[in-house]
Amino acid sequence: MTPFIARPMTNAATSLGRIRDRIAHAESIARRDAGATTLIAVSKTHDAAAIQPLIDAGQRVFGENRVQEAQAKWPALQALTPGIELHLVGQLQSNKAEDAVRLFDAIHSVDRPSLVAALARAIDKVGRAPACFVQVDIGDEPQKGGCALSDLPALLAEAQAAGLPVAGLMCVPPAGLDAAPYFALTAKLARDNGLAGLSMGMSDDFEAAVTLGATHVRVGSALFGPRA
Ligand SMILES: *Cc1c(COP(=O)(O)O)cnc(C)c1O
Repeated sequence: MTPFIARPMTNAATSLGRIRDRIAHAESIARRDAGATTLIAVSKTHDAAAIQPLIDAGQRVFGENRVQEAQAKWPALQALTPGIELHLVGQLQSNKAEDAVRLFDAIHSVDRPSLVAALARAIDKVGRAPACFVQVDIGDEPQKGGCALSDLPALLAEAQAAGLPVAGLMCVPPAGLDAAPYFALTAKLARDNGLAGLSMGMSDDFEAAVTLGATHVRVGSALFGPRA
């Protein structure tokens, strides 16, 4: 690549600027500190050619929902640009826990005791510990993953006892409904449990999530365009 020829701003880079502005505006409406929200660019299904322009535009935090897909794409991209932070936002099978712990800096889908145990073993074996978000089944939709609200205190206690670095809670509200009440409830659950991290908000609702205290928003299609 010839460094002195300016490349045209790609759509991805333009979208990144717009999303960052909208996050900043939502932070200011809610009187939150500028930069209090981390934007996770969810790059699932998109290839390196689609991702690299975002890296070139300064984005360093990315999300994937499948371990194998991330293993195939990210090591090469990370070799080109140091300092990239990878978040697993999709459901995780216990037999992939070790691979996930090797590759990811954060795991947003801790939702059951068997996965807590598998992650604790993997962290011990690999010698690195990704930040863990406990996913809450906030809309009572078990097919989406997430632990039932009634199981949350016990799961948090297990995760902490197993030594997982529990950063906060994560939720995916029901599609087609106003997400704000679900974000507010997730924020309350985090507060009640003394957790600072809140992973909530996607392309269609990240501003509401930011005003309700999200520390991490997970934005895919608004950055990359629709997925195939
Ligand atoms: C795909 C995905 C996202 C991003 O969704 P968009 O609507 O494309 O922004 C966020 N969170 C999770 C858990 C996802 O699977």
